[in-house]
Amino acid sequence: MSIQISIFAQTIEKINQEAILQTKYSLKLCKHLHKNPELSFQEFETAKRMAFELKEAGFEVTENVGGNSVVGVFKNGDGPVVMLRTDMDALPIEEKTNLEFASTKIAETKDGDEVAVMHACGHDIHMSTWTGTVRTLVALKNEWKGTLLVIAQQAEEFSGGAGEAINAGLFTKFPTPDFALAYHINPELLAGKIGLVGGPVFAGVKTVEITVYGKGGHGAYPEKCIDPIVIASRIVLDLQTIVSREISPLEPIVVTVGSIHGGTRPNIIPDEVKMELTLRYYSDAAIEKVIAAIERISVSAAEMAGMPHDELPKVLVSPVETPPVLNNPELSENIKGFATEILGADNILETSPAMVGEDFGKYGRTPENIPICLIWLGSTNSELMKELLEKGKKPAPLHSPNLNPDYEKTIETGIKVMAGNVIGLMGK
Ligand SMILES: [Zn+2]
Ligand SMILES: [Zn+2]
Repeated sequence: MSIQISIFAQTIEKINQEAILQTKYSLKLCKHLHKNPELSFQEFETAKRMAFELKEAGFEVTENVGGNSVVGVFKNGDGPVVMLRTDMDALPIEEKTNLEFASTKIAETKDGDEVAVMHACGHDIHMSTWTGTVRTLVALKNEWKGTLLVIAQQAEEFSGGAGEAINAGLFTKFPTPDFALAYHINPELLAGKIGLVGGPVFAGVKTVEITVYGKGGHGAYPEKCIDPIVIASRIVLDLQTIVSREISPLEPIVVTVGSIHGGTRPNIIPDEVKMELTLRYYSDAAIEKVIAAIERISVSAAEMAGMPHDELPKVLVSPVETPPVLNNPELSENIKGFATEILGADNILETSPAMVGEDFGKYGRTPENIPICLIWLGSTNSELMKELLEKGKKPAPLHSPNLNPDYEKTIETGIKVMAGNVIGLMGK
């Protein structure tokens, strides 16, 4: 990786001025997007708007790349290809903030249920910051040389965007990126600051379904039945020993049974129990071991209860998965350098890896082996944070109906730093 490690002072001045100007535009856009959220896989109007913004900025735009995702290319001479990604989807959450631009939108889920929709994961801020960055970079195109590949991605919340865009030819039909960058807002950090991790940032996510079979019958005659509720209960408890007894204490793993369903009446022993688990991990080898242990424990518990060999539990690992997000250490170090020049060292925080997932990691796991870096963008107003801490409270987290970012400061910081990163990576 041969890149310039500093941005000229004069250029920084230009980035700051342009970013402040573009923040006004992006803030308006953000309020519009916040008021009009769309669920994962339904980002139709949002995608149209993103395509419009890119065309306005002078990009070649391709719509419906692997679903609703929008890809833009802006060629500006010989130089590296830098990819900037934003996500577009919102969540089925009823907004409880009293913002003047709060969402009152209702949407239909794919199961036909009506749900309230809210941008409760900050993807509205990601889109507006991304748009502002693109506009800033176009305005400052004399300061850099190279190609911008930008993607507004569908369905991040379902891990249904990055993989689909890659399969639709993101890295083969468009210029292949030398670097890929993205933000996620972080309410635990103050607006005006960013958080960086060189290495693991977000955990990998796998979903597992276990179906436990039994022999149902009358609750008054347990001796004539094999009770799958008892087998499932034993499995749930034994699963707790995987992380504590079979995996190194230095390896971060989560095994959570999030749902368990079986039976309909107090006096009926059911035929089956279904359980759903979420697994979180950083190491592929460790998670393979965990899955093997889940199978072994489930089968053993059923055998112990006397279930025949053709009716042992079925353990299904969902094909939809989110790999861990592993920031390229060298790229992260460079980003830290650029961000320090833009924001000052006090505003760059070293953050710890999280056990939540993000499908951005997929962009770094293709044969192209692209160095990726996901940056935490601080989003809580400093006065609000002070007030909350004095009361012993914390800011509303991501996916909360009360999520309340400092929109302006977050967007402005996001534009400055991301424009600085690109110019740093592509500076002439
Ligand atoms: Zn989310
Ligand atoms: Zn998110």
